[in-house]
Amino acid sequence: MSDTSAYSMPSLPEESAQDGENSESFGAETRASSIMITCACGETFSSLVYHAVNVTLEPELLYQLLADTLNVAVCPNCGRRARSAIPFVYHDMARGLFAYVFPNGDLSEEERSQRLERLRAVYNQAVAASGDVTRSAREDASAAADSPRLQDAIPQPGAPPMQVIFGIEQLRKLVESLLEPSERLGKVTLTAQGNDSAQREQLRLIAQRLARGAGCLTETTERSDTFSITIYGPRSQIGVIAQALRQG
Ligand SMILES: [Zn+2]
Repeated sequence: MSDTSAYSMPSLPEESAQDGENSESFGAETRASSIMITCACGETFSSLVYHAVNVTLEPELLYQLLADTLNVAVCPNCGRRARSAIPFVYHDMARGLFAYVFPNGDLSEEERSQRLERLRAVYNQAVAASGDVTRSAREDASAAADSPRLQDAIPQPGAPPMQVIFGIEQLRKLVESLLEPSERLGKVTLTAQGNDSAQREQLRLIAQRLARGAGCLTETTERSDTFSITIYGPRSQIGVIAQALRQG
Protein backbone atom coordinates (compact mmCIF):
# COMPACT_ATOMS: atom_id res chain seq x y z
CA MET A 1 0.00 0.00 0.00
CA SER A 2 1.69 3.14 -1.22
CA ASP A 3 0.07 5.54 1.24
CA THR A 4 2.37 4.26 3.95
CA SER A 5 5.22 6.59 4.82
CA ALA A 6 8.04 6.30 7.33
CA TYR A 7 7.36 7.80 10.73
CA SER A 8 8.03 11.49 10.53
CA MET A 9 6.89 11.90 14.09
CA PRO A 10 9.35 12.38 16.96
CA SER A 11 8.64 8.92 18.33
CA LEU A 12 11.50 6.46 18.49
CA PRO A 13 14.35 7.16 16.07
CA GLU A 14 16.10 4.26 14.41
CA GLU A 15 19.37 4.99 16.26
CA SER A 16 17.98 4.84 19.75
CA ALA A 17 16.53 1.42 19.00
CA GLN A 18 19.95 0.24 17.93
CA ASP A 19 21.63 1.62 21.02
CA GLY A 20 19.41 -0.65 23.04
CA GLU A 21 20.42 -3.73 21.08
CA ASN A 22 22.19 -6.57 22.81
CA SER A 23 22.62 -10.28 22.37
CA GLU A 24 18.92 -10.80 23.06
CA SER A 25 18.16 -9.22 19.70
CA PHE A 26 19.32 -12.37 17.99
CA GLY A 27 17.14 -14.63 20.12
CA ALA A 28 14.20 -16.63 18.87
CA GLU A 29 11.30 -15.04 20.71
CA THR A 30 9.01 -12.26 19.57
CA ARG A 31 9.70 -8.90 21.21
CA ALA A 32 7.72 -5.68 20.92
CA SER A 33 7.38 -2.33 22.61
CA SER A 34 4.70 0.28 22.70
CA ILE A 35 5.53 3.75 21.37
CA MET A 36 3.59 7.01 21.42
CA ILE A 37 2.92 8.60 18.06
CA THR A 38 1.64 12.08 17.33
CA CYS A 39 -0.09 12.18 13.97
CA ALA A 40 -0.07 15.12 11.57
CA CYS A 41 -3.78 15.61 12.45
CA GLY A 42 -2.83 16.22 16.10
CA GLU A 43 -4.02 12.89 17.51
CA THR A 44 -1.62 11.14 19.92
CA PHE A 45 -1.91 7.38 20.27
CA SER A 46 0.15 4.35 21.23
CA SER A 47 1.22 1.73 18.73
CA LEU A 48 2.97 -1.62 19.04
CA VAL A 49 6.35 -1.95 17.31
CA TYR A 50 7.98 -5.35 16.92
CA HIS A 51 11.75 -5.60 17.33
CA ALA A 52 11.79 -9.34 16.75
CA VAL A 53 9.11 -11.55 15.22
CA ASN A 54 9.03 -15.31 15.24
CA VAL A 55 6.36 -16.36 12.75
CA THR A 56 6.71 -20.02 13.63
CA LEU A 57 5.57 -19.25 17.17
CA GLU A 58 3.15 -16.49 16.10
CA PRO A 59 1.91 -17.23 12.56
CA GLU A 60 -0.45 -14.21 12.54
CA LEU A 61 2.64 -11.97 12.31
CA LEU A 62 3.46 -13.59 8.95
CA TYR A 63 0.06 -12.41 7.68
CA GLN A 64 0.57 -8.96 9.15
CA LEU A 65 3.73 -8.75 7.06
CA LEU A 66 1.93 -9.94 3.91
CA ALA A 67 -1.01 -7.56 4.46
CA ASP A 68 1.38 -4.68 5.23
CA THR A 69 0.06 -4.11 8.73
CA LEU A 70 3.22 -5.22 10.58
CA ASN A 71 4.85 -2.22 12.32
CA VAL A 72 2.42 0.10 10.55
CA ALA A 73 0.62 2.52 12.86
CA VAL A 74 -2.88 3.63 11.87
CA CYS A 75 -4.18 6.87 13.36
CA PRO A 76 -7.52 6.19 15.07
CA ASN A 77 -8.69 9.71 14.25
CA CYS A 78 -7.85 10.22 10.55
CA GLY A 79 -6.75 6.76 9.38
CA ARG A 80 -3.32 7.94 8.23
CA ARG A 81 -0.79 5.10 8.08
CA ALA A 82 2.87 5.34 9.08
CA ARG A 83 5.50 2.64 8.88
CA SER A 84 8.11 2.24 11.60
CA ALA A 85 11.70 2.72 10.40
CA ILE A 86 13.03 0.62 13.28
CA PRO A 87 14.91 -2.50 12.12
CA PHE A 88 13.71 -5.88 13.35
CA VAL A 89 14.68 -9.54 13.40
CA TYR A 90 12.46 -11.83 11.33
CA HIS A 91 12.62 -15.51 12.18
CA ASP A 92 10.75 -18.34 10.47
CA MET A 93 12.15 -21.52 12.01
CA ALA A 94 9.95 -23.84 9.93
CA ARG A 95 11.05 -22.34 6.60
CA GLY A 96 14.66 -21.69 7.62
CA LEU A 97 14.56 -17.90 7.25
CA PHE A 98 16.44 -15.76 9.75
CA ALA A 99 16.86 -12.12 8.76
CA TYR A 100 17.70 -8.69 10.09
CA VAL A 101 15.39 -6.28 8.30
CA PHE A 102 15.86 -2.57 7.68
CA PRO A 103 12.33 -1.47 6.66
CA ASN A 104 13.49 1.38 4.45
CA GLY A 105 14.58 0.02 1.06
CA ASP A 106 15.47 3.47 -0.33
CA LEU A 107 18.80 3.95 1.43
CA SER A 108 21.93 5.04 -0.44
CA GLU A 109 24.95 2.74 -0.63
CA GLU A 110 26.65 4.82 2.05
CA GLU A 111 23.65 4.67 4.39
CA ARG A 112 23.45 0.92 3.90
CA SER A 113 27.09 0.38 4.76
CA GLN A 114 26.79 2.59 7.87
CA ARG A 115 23.89 0.46 9.08
CA LEU A 116 25.72 -2.76 8.29
CA GLU A 117 28.75 -1.50 10.20
CA ARG A 118 26.67 -0.79 13.30
CA LEU A 119 24.87 -4.11 13.01
CA ARG A 120 28.18 -5.94 12.66
CA ALA A 121 29.47 -4.36 15.89
CA VAL A 122 26.35 -5.44 17.78
CA TYR A 123 26.46 -8.84 16.17
CA ASN A 124 30.11 -9.41 17.06
CA GLN A 125 29.37 -8.51 20.67
CA ALA A 126 26.55 -11.03 20.68
CA VAL A 127 28.84 -13.67 19.21
CA ALA A 128 31.60 -12.86 21.71
CA ALA A 129 29.09 -13.08 24.55
CA SER A 130 27.96 -16.51 23.49
CA GLY A 131 29.76 -19.39 25.09
CA ASP A 132 28.56 -21.78 22.40
CA VAL A 133 30.54 -20.22 19.59
CA THR A 134 33.89 -21.72 18.75
CA ARG A 135 36.95 -19.74 17.75
CA SER A 136 36.73 -20.93 14.16
CA ALA A 137 33.13 -19.77 13.87
CA ARG A 138 34.26 -16.33 15.01
CA GLU A 139 36.92 -16.29 12.31
CA ASP A 140 34.23 -17.12 9.78
CA ALA A 141 32.22 -14.16 11.02
CA SER A 142 35.06 -11.73 10.45
CA ALA A 143 35.85 -13.30 7.07
CA ALA A 144 32.26 -12.57 6.08
CA ALA A 145 32.55 -9.03 7.38
CA ASP A 146 32.34 -7.40 3.96
CA SER A 147 29.26 -9.28 2.96
CA PRO A 148 25.72 -8.38 3.96
CA ARG A 149 25.28 -11.99 4.94
CA LEU A 150 26.46 -12.67 8.48
CA GLN A 151 27.00 -16.36 8.08
CA ASP A 152 27.84 -19.33 10.21
CA ALA A 153 28.25 -17.66 13.56
CA ILE A 154 24.77 -17.17 14.94
CA PRO A 155 24.94 -17.58 18.72
CA GLN A 156 22.06 -20.02 18.51
CA PRO A 157 22.68 -23.68 17.86
CA GLY A 158 20.91 -24.95 14.79
CA ALA A 159 19.82 -21.54 13.52
CA PRO A 160 20.20 -20.83 9.80
CA PRO A 161 22.61 -18.07 8.67
CA MET A 162 21.28 -14.59 9.26
CA GLN A 163 20.56 -12.51 6.18
CA VAL A 164 20.35 -8.74 6.11
CA ILE A 165 17.43 -7.37 4.12
CA PHE A 166 16.84 -3.76 3.10
CA GLY A 167 13.20 -2.95 2.46
CA ILE A 168 9.93 -4.46 3.68
CA GLU A 169 9.00 -5.15 0.06
CA GLN A 170 12.12 -7.31 -0.36
CA LEU A 171 11.30 -9.26 2.79
CA ARG A 172 7.71 -9.75 1.63
CA LYS A 173 8.80 -11.08 -1.77
CA LEU A 174 11.21 -13.49 -0.15
CA VAL A 175 8.61 -14.73 2.35
CA GLU A 176 5.96 -15.13 -0.37
CA SER A 177 8.36 -17.24 -2.41
CA LEU A 178 8.61 -19.69 0.51
CA LEU A 179 4.85 -20.21 0.90
CA GLU A 180 2.65 -22.96 -0.49
CA PRO A 181 -0.31 -21.65 -2.54
CA SER A 182 -2.73 -22.47 0.31
CA GLU A 183 -0.54 -20.50 2.75
CA ARG A 184 -0.49 -17.28 0.71
CA LEU A 185 -2.42 -14.21 1.76
CA GLY A 186 -6.18 -14.35 1.28
CA LYS A 187 -8.69 -11.60 2.05
CA VAL A 188 -12.42 -11.16 2.23
CA THR A 189 -13.99 -7.75 2.88
CA LEU A 190 -17.38 -7.00 4.44
CA THR A 191 -18.80 -3.55 3.75
CA ALA A 192 -21.69 -1.55 5.17
CA GLN A 193 -22.96 1.53 3.33
CA GLY A 194 -24.19 4.51 5.29
CA ASN A 195 -23.20 5.52 8.79
CA ASP A 196 -25.50 3.45 10.98
CA SER A 197 -23.29 2.79 14.00
CA ALA A 198 -25.30 -0.22 15.21
CA GLN A 199 -24.92 -1.84 11.81
CA ARG A 200 -21.18 -1.15 11.83
CA GLU A 201 -20.82 -2.68 15.26
CA GLN A 202 -22.75 -5.76 14.16
CA LEU A 203 -20.54 -6.20 11.11
CA ARG A 204 -17.43 -5.77 13.25
CA LEU A 205 -18.58 -8.48 15.67
CA ILE A 206 -19.38 -10.93 12.85
CA ALA A 207 -16.03 -10.35 11.15
CA GLN A 208 -14.06 -10.66 14.38
CA ARG A 209 -15.85 -13.88 15.32
CA LEU A 210 -15.20 -15.39 11.88
CA ALA A 211 -11.56 -14.29 11.94
CA ARG A 212 -10.90 -15.61 15.44
CA GLY A 213 -12.49 -18.96 14.63
CA ALA A 214 -10.21 -19.40 11.62
CA GLY A 215 -6.97 -17.98 13.06
CA CYS A 216 -7.25 -14.89 10.85
CA LEU A 217 -6.95 -11.13 11.46
CA THR A 218 -9.10 -8.10 10.68
CA GLU A 219 -8.40 -4.57 9.49
CA THR A 220 -11.07 -1.90 9.63
CA THR A 221 -11.56 1.12 7.38
CA GLU A 222 -14.09 3.69 8.64
CA ARG A 223 -15.30 6.57 6.52
CA SER A 224 -18.31 8.82 7.02
CA ASP A 225 -20.35 7.02 4.34
CA THR A 226 -18.92 3.47 4.37
CA PHE A 227 -17.53 1.00 6.82
CA SER A 228 -15.48 -1.98 5.71
CA ILE A 229 -13.69 -4.69 7.57
CA THR A 230 -11.24 -7.00 5.85
CA ILE A 231 -10.55 -10.48 7.20
CA TYR A 232 -7.12 -11.73 6.15
CA GLY A 233 -5.00 -14.81 6.70
CA PRO A 234 -4.00 -18.04 4.92
CA ARG A 235 -5.89 -18.48 1.64
CA SER A 236 -7.18 -21.89 2.74
CA GLN A 237 -8.81 -20.38 5.85
CA ILE A 238 -10.20 -17.39 3.96
CA GLY A 239 -11.81 -19.85 1.54
CA VAL A 240 -13.65 -21.48 4.45
CA ILE A 241 -14.84 -18.08 5.71
CA ALA A 242 -15.98 -16.98 2.25
CA GLN A 243 -17.98 -20.18 1.90
CA ALA A 244 -19.58 -19.69 5.33
CA LEU A 245 -20.55 -16.16 4.32
CA ARG A 246 -22.12 -17.34 1.06
CA GLN A 247 -24.19 -19.89 2.92
CA GLY A 248 -25.13 -17.44 5.71
ZN1 LIG B 1 -4.35 11.33 12.33
